[in-house]
Amino acid sequence: MVKYMMIERKNIQKLINTLGEHSDTREIIIDDIKKIPRYSSYLGVCKQTPVKILIYINYDYPENIQEAVIIHELLHVQIKHEGFPRVVINENKSRNANPEAIRVLRYIRDHFNSTIEHPQVFYREINEFDIDVDSYFDVQVERKKHRFERRTERKKDKNYYFLRQQDILIGIDYYSYPSKHRKMIQKMFRNLYPETYNYCNTLYRKLKFNNPNEVYTSAQKIKKDIIRYGRKNGLSEINKIWDAMDIL
Ligand SMILES: [Zn+2]
Repeated sequence: MVKYMMIERKNIQKLINTLGEHSDTREIIIDDIKKIPRYSSYLGVCKQTPVKILIYINYDYPENIQEAVIIHELLHVQIKHEGFPRVVINENKSRNANPEAIRVLRYIRDHFNSTIEHPQVFYREINEFDIDVDSYFDVQVERKKHRFERRTERKKDKNYYFLRQQDILIGIDYYSYPSKHRKMIQKMFRNLYPETYNYCNTLYRKLKFNNPNEVYTSAQKIKKDIIRYGRKNGLSEINKIWDAMDIL
């Protein structure tokens, strides 16, 4: 119950008030991420129902990180109220997908949504709240580093290029990190996969994320360029996953 008291903190109260201005007065419940095994290694995840906002957080991390994670998840909710676009799976294009393909489609959809929301979410986390931004991004960088370090791929097969497509998507996130953290993770990305890093960099220069319209246009560009990258590297079946992502 002590952990639930986090909700009383002024940063979180500030966001609850902002949600209230959008008539979102749903109950906010903080719970242990270990209760949902497939997310158990995540920092946090948010599930929403018409009456509740459930935020699952990782209690393995200290309280200053937990607080930043709660703010992060609530900011995702907040910007949806402001009309920022979302990525959904096209029903027609995914009709014949098997359970494994559905799993992959959902995974990509979730990451795509995160990528297009994070420039706004990170900006506000850094500038509008009195939270431990430095420690929070230290953890982010550690986790992303770990993601790169786990890589054992040798041959450049289809799966290799599918992972690079995901690196491009997730790589867009890094541009919104504070500069110290951004440099650390981008250096690792550039060293491991210079071509993919350059592709991501060229794509990023075409993007803007200041308002819902800019984010919508940027999301279309991201999708188009990731598909183009796949086509260039011989992915046709896998590109259907990206093609099934609709931006609304
Ligand atoms: Zn996020």
